[in-house]
Amino acid sequence: TKFEALGLDKALLDAVADMGFETPSEVQEKAIPILLKDETDLVALAQTGTGKTAAFGFPLIQKIDSSSKTTQGLILSPTRELCLQITNEMQAYSKYVKGLNTVAIYGGASITEQARQIKRGAQIVVATPGRMKDMIGRGLVDISKIDYCILDEADEMLNMGFYEDIKDILSGTPKEKSTWLFSATMPKEVSVIAKKFMHNPQEITV
Ligand code: AMP
Repeated sequence: TKFEALGLDKALLDAVADMGFETPSEVQEKAIPILLKDETDLVALAQTGTGKTAAFGFPLIQKIDSSSKTTQGLILSPTRELCLQITNEMQAYSKYVKGLNTVAIYGGASITEQARQIKRGAQIVVATPGRMKDMIGRGLVDISKIDYCILDEADEMLNMGFYEDIKDILSGTPKEKSTWLFSATMPKEVSVIAKKFMHNPQEITV
């Protein structure tokens, strides 16, 4: 399939087939080869509904070391709904990757239960910024070994006033990591984040 041409492993191709995806969307076609090939920062201008979750999710799943329990990937998203939606998609995409766990962290639900899930081992954490910062502060989640940080719907997160939380969270991650920023629009605030936290990002627009 055209997904094979993007460089995806069999485990992901099998999941793609199960999902019934036939052709990569434009953002997938543009982002996946770049993210698989290079350790690079990326700024992607893409609306919701374009398949952007798989555009960052497939490369993330393929790059994570699922034999280690360490949290290696962090996806920040603006709302609880989006956080749960991304988590569900990541779990479906990684169903054939043994030992890979994705856990959702968001406000308005039991922090004890979320901490318990993290403790069992989550290579990928999908989080809203407020609850994430809270859990980092309480020592309930370790982001010191993150290799990949994804800022999803960055414009929405900034609209909702999460700039300080995002800044604090990112400052606790290693300098040597890749940051992938997805946004529907590119207002000044988003460019500021990109300038401050990213290094020579490649750029794609769909
Ligand atoms: P997203 O923009 O990531 O929220 O994705 C929107 C919807 O499109 C989700 O329900 C995905 O499961 C679905 N989707 C993502 N990629 C593809 C694809 N290549 N072909 C068909 N459906 C897709």
